[in-house]
Amino acid sequence: MLTRYDLDRKALAALLADQPSYRVDQIWVGLHRRGAEPAELTDVPKSVRARLETEAPAGLQEVTRQVGDRGKTIKWLWRLHDDNYVETVLMHYRDRSTVCVSTQAGCAMACGFCATGQAGFGRNLSSGEIVEQVIRASRAAAPRRVSNVVFMGMGEPLANFGSTWTAIERLHDEVGLSARRLTVSTVGIVPGIRRLAQERLPVNLAVSLHAANDELRDALVPVNRRYPLDSLLHACREYLAAKHRRLSFEWALIDGVNDRPSDARELAALAVPLRAHVNLIPLNPTEGYAARGSPPIRVREFRDWLGALGVNATIRRNRGTAIDAACGQLRQRTSTVFPSSVRIARSSTS
Ligand code: SAH
Repeated sequence: MLTRYDLDRKALAALLADQPSYRVDQIWVGLHRRGAEPAELTDVPKSVRARLETEAPAGLQEVTRQVGDRGKTIKWLWRLHDDNYVETVLMHYRDRSTVCVSTQAGCAMACGFCATGQAGFGRNLSSGEIVEQVIRASRAAAPRRVSNVVFMGMGEPLANFGSTWTAIERLHDEVGLSARRLTVSTVGIVPGIRRLAQERLPVNLAVSLHAANDELRDALVPVNRRYPLDSLLHACREYLAAKHRRLSFEWALIDGVNDRPSDARELAALAVPLRAHVNLIPLNPTEGYAARGSPPIRVREFRDWLGALGVNATIRRNRGTAIDAACGQLRQRTSTVFPSSVRIARSSTS
């Protein structure tokens, strides 16, 4: 099914073939720049608005909206037209507002510490379903503007390359977000990184490293058996050479597993030559994984060890833990028991 934001300009014009072209432009701009619902396009005749509602239907139905961090973090659970479910997170910071989007319902990469990986794969999202997550979050963010989009929600963006790239182009060309403010996060799909290096927009690349030797990484991130560290780092170098963008490594600190001085040394040996930035985050708890996140004191120590070894490392502020919206906590859920401390607003919109 083609949802509203799956239509490109030509397809929208074809759908409205009986309308003058200025009207098509008006609607196109309204949908993308203003994130308007058809009903809000009040300069468009009512009959045309009604046709848009039925012939270009929204792809996301809001099931729940949870608010955490005193309003600064919002998480949506959406139902897709075929009863798959995905989540989106909006985070407000002092200087920016970031949307974290999903690219797949579920994920096939099977990282044991990640809730999405534990639940398995549903299907790829269409580009329209990805773009619409940004549009819907932008509506909720107003009057603030969404400034950044990170492809760090459910799924592996580079395992759904076509839709992810089409969504990136649409967000850049039509919604008006600059490539510098778009970040693709990957588990390390080497052919996907190579392909990304060939594309026209220099988006930021984040690699979920978590281990800096093959033995440990094979255990934590199973796809490493297919694309071992050597090949992954080679692809990272290619990306840097092509795009001149800062590379970042994500490192979820797991107590006693990858938070030792030797881990910091191994990581530094990989990060320094690439001048990669390291994002540290204590592992968030998930149902299917027993190990714990490193304690705060170890997290700071680990950062300091990296700093002493010449690595630029920051501790990521943790958002949304109380509403299971933090990194690695998103999952396919059809029914959910929410913590009672959380305010839940149910919405009846489309
Ligand atoms: N598949 C992509 C994007 C989604 S995951 C990727 O792997 O990069 C977004 C980030 O959250 C990744 O860095 C992932 O490794 C991390 N993550 C997964 N589970 C986590 C957990 N339980 N705690 C902290 N980070 C986690």
